[in-house]
Amino acid sequence: MLITLKPYQVKLFVLSVLLLLVGFIWQFTSSSNTKNLKVIFLNVEQGDATLIQTPKEKTILIDGGPNAAILEKLGQYLPFHQKKIDLIILTHPHSDHVTGLISVLQNYQINLILMNGVNHTTPEYITFLKLIKNKKIPVNIVENASFIDLEDNIRMEILYPDRNLANLDVKDLNDGSIVTYLIAKNIKFLFMGDAGFGVENRLMASNLLLQTNVLKIGHHGSRESSSSEFLNYVRPEFAIISSGANNLFGHPSKELLKRLNNQNIKTYRTDKHGDIIFTTNGINLQLQLGSPTSK
Ligand SMILES: [Zn+2]
Ligand SMILES: [Zn+2]
Repeated sequence: MLITLKPYQVKLFVLSVLLLLVGFIWQFTSSSNTKNLKVIFLNVEQGDATLIQTPKEKTILIDGGPNAAILEKLGQYLPFHQKKIDLIILTHPHSDHVTGLISVLQNYQINLILMNGVNHTTPEYITFLKLIKNKKIPVNIVENASFIDLEDNIRMEILYPDRNLANLDVKDLNDGSIVTYLIAKNIKFLFMGDAGFGVENRLMASNLLLQTNVLKIGHHGSRESSSSEFLNYVRPEFAIISSGANNLFGHPSKELLKRLNNQNIKTYRTDKHGDIIFTTNGINLQLQLGSPTSK
């Protein structure tokens, strides 16, 4: 029996074939994009969240920003089917870094969390710790400078804290921030968390610092982070500032912007440029800017 299709059925059929084709091309291009290492400084307003995707599709998240908006960002950049994050680094437990991670823990399978383990008793941090316990997520506490091999030629170096801060009452939580390098062959990203001058001085004395391609500026660009000496020491080509538009803290400070300008460092800000995306094969570095915020 021959089936004759009505015109609207033909249109539907053609549309379905087209959709299948678009889906196939999208899948193909999105998987070919991941051949490079990708580092995305997410625009999470006043807070920090950085997403790293390796060529072999490992996913690392450094901090989660101040609210659940992180989920939308992850949905935008991770493949549709992905519900797993290999490593979360919580630089320190301030709410503009930890709160978004609560939603991430509720919605993703997390293989490992790296944190400094300091005492802190805000409701957000307590909720985060309870979720870790309930979901039995493995946790590593930083004890000293060390490194994690992510895959061939890509590693994370943990520079700071240089001692175990677990269960300690720390006077300045920002200066307990986990500071890390992400190194892919010749290209180096330095993530400062909210660390300030004190940590920078310790790092300069430690011989762990290298010439850096991309520096995530400490503490949202506060005046007490990223000293001229420090900038001169790591000599970044790019400086990234994660801060919210019209935030109450006056971040980034005029003093810091002047220091960056004096050293001709190309500076990008999440409040002005939206998501800031770097792609590298370990030799070349490409920058792409997301859409600016409407605010
Ligand atoms: Zn912060
Ligand atoms: Zn902080």
